[in-house]
Amino acid sequence: MSDNQENFTCPRCNTVMDYGEFIKKRKICGSCGYHSRLTWQERLEITADTDSFTELDAGMESENPLGFPGYEAKIAGLQRSCAAREAVVTGECTVEGYPLIIGIMDSNFMMASMGSVVGEKITRVFEYAVEKKRPVVLFTASGGARMQEGIFSLMQMAKTSGAVARLGKAGQLYITVLTDPTTGGVTASFASLGDIILAEPGALIGFAGKRVIQDTIGEKLPENFQTAEFLQEHGFADMIVCRDELRTVLARLLRIHNYKPLGGADV
Ligand SMILES: [Zn+2]
Repeated sequence: MSDNQENFTCPRCNTVMDYGEFIKKRKICGSCGYHSRLTWQERLEITADTDSFTELDAGMESENPLGFPGYEAKIAGLQRSCAAREAVVTGECTVEGYPLIIGIMDSNFMMASMGSVVGEKITRVFEYAVEKKRPVVLFTASGGARMQEGIFSLMQMAKTSGAVARLGKAGQLYITVLTDPTTGGVTASFASLGDIILAEPGALIGFAGKRVIQDTIGEKLPENFQTAEFLQEHGFADMIVCRDELRTVLARLLRIHNYKPLGGADV
């Protein structure tokens, strides 16, 4: 993607847009509808009702369980550039008045790889939702497990999946919104376990990389393999939702599952 302060050039159709206009359009290409990646702050701003967000576990930080060289310094740099302690930001908010527990993964933070803190924060989202009797909406994005934490990363797949199951037993709704890119251990755990799985148009969603699969099975894969559209055709995603429609769709889904907006009458 080539963007700078003045212009954004769409990587799909090469249309050049004024950067301010592009931001106003929620980072969607005005010409072809390409959805560019968002930071956690941008996602929160276009999703949650104004001033409704309260962050949870804001101070939780990764340690370096394997003594991986340079890991602490890398984390410290990303904490500054992303204004977050880790690759997922979680909290309570309302969306069109409906209270929910939200988690937003930010691919700018080490490709939102899942280490022990990401896994723990996601797990706590579900535990908190059980306690507060609230639905969960998670915006997933990830390059997969975090190499620097080895086996501790892989354990998060089982841990988060167990937490999803407990939310289900408690009768609360879990909606995932798969955003570009959602891959690896995150796809193989909580991202694919939503009661309702939404996806953004054109998002890359998969487990292993396309080239790895092609080389392993010795076959050419379809052009749109591992896109949100391909997943929907094959029953792995329920609905592809344009970013502009997402708040409305989330509110509608909560309403039809009998959730009530805070303080408002049931409409
Ligand atoms: Zn475009």
